[in-house]
Amino acid sequence: MKEIPELFGSMVFNDHVMRQMLPKTVYKSLKRTMQEGTALEADVADVVAACMKDWAVSKGATHFTHWFQPMTGITAEKHDSFISPDGNGNVLMDFSGKELVKGEPDASSFPSGGLRATFEARGYTAWDPTSYAFIKDDTLFIPTAFCSYTGQILDKKTPLLRSMDAVSVEAVRTLKLFGKDVKRVTATVGPEQEYFLIDVKDYAKRPDIKLTGRTLFGAPSPKGQEKEDHYFGTIRPRVKAFMADLDQELWKLGIPSKTEHNEVAPCQHEMAPVFETANIATDANQLTMEVMKQVAERHGFACLLHEKPFEGINGSGKHNNWSLSTDTGENLLDPGKTPSENAQFILFLTAIIKAVDDNQDLLRLSVASAGNDHRLGANEAPPAILSIFVGDELEEVINSIIEGRMAKSGSRNKIDLGMVLPKLPQDNSDRNRTSPFAFTGNKFEFRMLGSSFNIACTNTILNTAVAESLRVFNEELYSAKDFSSALHDLIKRELTEHKRILFNGNGYSREWEEEAEKRGLLNYKKTPDALVHYTDEKNIELFKRHGIYTAEELKSREEVLIDEYQKQIRIEALTMLEMLKKDIIPACISYSDKLAKGVAVKKSIGIEAEAEMKLCKEITGNIASLLDKTETLEGDVGTTPEDVYKAARFSADVIIPDMEKARAVADHLETMVGKKEWPMPTYADILFYC
Ligand code: ADP
Ligand code: MG
Repeated sequence: MKEIPELFGSMVFNDHVMRQMLPKTVYKSLKRTMQEGTALEADVADVVAACMKDWAVSKGATHFTHWFQPMTGITAEKHDSFISPDGNGNVLMDFSGKELVKGEPDASSFPSGGLRATFEARGYTAWDPTSYAFIKDDTLFIPTAFCSYTGQILDKKTPLLRSMDAVSVEAVRTLKLFGKDVKRVTATVGPEQEYFLIDVKDYAKRPDIKLTGRTLFGAPSPKGQEKEDHYFGTIRPRVKAFMADLDQELWKLGIPSKTEHNEVAPCQHEMAPVFETANIATDANQLTMEVMKQVAERHGFACLLHEKPFEGINGSGKHNNWSLSTDTGENLLDPGKTPSENAQFILFLTAIIKAVDDNQDLLRLSVASAGNDHRLGANEAPPAILSIFVGDELEEVINSIIEGRMAKSGSRNKIDLGMVLPKLPQDNSDRNRTSPFAFTGNKFEFRMLGSSFNIACTNTILNTAVAESLRVFNEELYSAKDFSSALHDLIKRELTEHKRILFNGNGYSREWEEEAEKRGLLNYKKTPDALVHYTDEKNIELFKRHGIYTAEELKSREEVLIDEYQKQIRIEALTMLEMLKKDIIPACISYSDKLAKGVAVKKSIGIEAEAEMKLCKEITGNIASLLDKTETLEGDVGTTPEDVYKAARFSADVIIPDMEKARAVADHLETMVGKKEWPMPTYADILFYC
């Protein structure tokens, strides 16, 4: 095995490689493009492309691809080989600047929500030089943005990059007020990724997992997660080997995989990388999910990234740790030690509190999906209500500001705002796992994201929302005569106004739902409830103002997500019908037939066989009920409206309840039918493999 430092990033065309391989002037020009977003000249692109190709070929690559993140949420790639005929029957390995900078995949089959009709199939991918190219599966991957012929964005990456600019512009202005001259503020993200590993033999026998990512049937296993013996438990050797291999693959790609451990549910695990800039973290997380699946296969596993693969035990999320850092190395969410730092920290904290309160709808819809609907509000994840946990000490500071009094706890520092703040402890790290949005010492952790999500959307919204708070604050503070008193007034006023979003208690409790309603907080329980608010006037304005989306682009996104939701439910319903009709009902019938025959034989020789008869009758009764539920589901699927908005509503209100009813009967039958007859591995088989 290579030494880890040597291995790390060995498949990445990173700064180190560029510095070594590129002529000095080209390197400088490329760096300028990366840092300042200046256009790359054609001759520079040619040299970069040639070096990239030489490097890639030396590492065994034969192909290249523009790699992008269409609105499907996963990544897309179209491979071209480097070969180019030389006219004499031989080939050269060739790669031009033009091929590096711009690609032209047929865009017609990617979801666009009506932005691009199929007859205008052209779409462009444009190299995103802020994210390094890398080699995977003997192919040079070039991270790109994806847009339509007319320039409308069709991907998840472009809005994220725009939002990073937006929050930087405003945060830089805010810092000027504190006498700090920084050029750039960058959103940083560390996404913790949860996943399940199951044996590929079980996976192969479960059409539901294969087609929908989750089990549509399954009576509870006699043992679940109740003993809490899996969380941080000893990692079984087979899984350990997977994790070691995963780390190697991720390190090669320059992804700083750091922490691996068992999670709460049986066969559930987590990987946390060291945080990076939001765009690089997004690319890295997309890659991580792909690599997890590939490496799992090598180890005889299937890796499940669905938010709720199994009913009754925890599902998987993705904790999005987020902060803002300056190019001078300052973390703006670090409370700091000196009073003036505290004032600046409190202002940024206030901006975030306002951003979350004002944009509960957007943050909620950024985590809305058919899969996550099973998880949010279940007993392992925050409810669909946004709230912020700041911890007792910080809450006391906030209350003291609102009430205009001295803060009670901690050692005190007088600050020049006329406010008295305790020294904020570095380790006031949150141990409240029930909050959807928690302050964890020097960053916020957004916990509503589902495990399969692309994190770009959430971070686009977070960055834009905070940019907007800061913009409003900057306007007021820049025009103030006396900065200190204006700052004091602003903080006090805004904290008072947005205090309702702060909640330190148990976010999983019923009481909180009631309390949240009293406070006027939003509670969009299902995906269609949330998604339709994407294009609310306030949101169109917000995104337009910061140059993230046009109204049309936003509408297209809403449509794509709504459509994706109804399609997913449809696939689940059809899979369920198929399994009911082809597997489950026939198995139940054949088992009851067997019982009936046994009863007849026994009776013919004078044995009463009452118990068998009772069981047979019960099973037969349940089969009738299951057939009935199956017919209802089938009938309703057939009447799903054409319009995607209506179809989404119908899926949530009619199809899902139909599916739940059918499942309940089938799961009950599973407990009665013999193991040999049951047509698929059970929860106990899948969750407790060896
Ligand atoms: P936890 O208690 O949730 O396990 P950790 O300290 O292990 O918290 O961090 C979890 C994640 O937060 C890691 O991915 C880490 O890199 C990331 N993180 C730490 N600091 C920052 C930051 N300033 N910005 C964004 N993410 C961060
Ligand atoms: Mg965490």
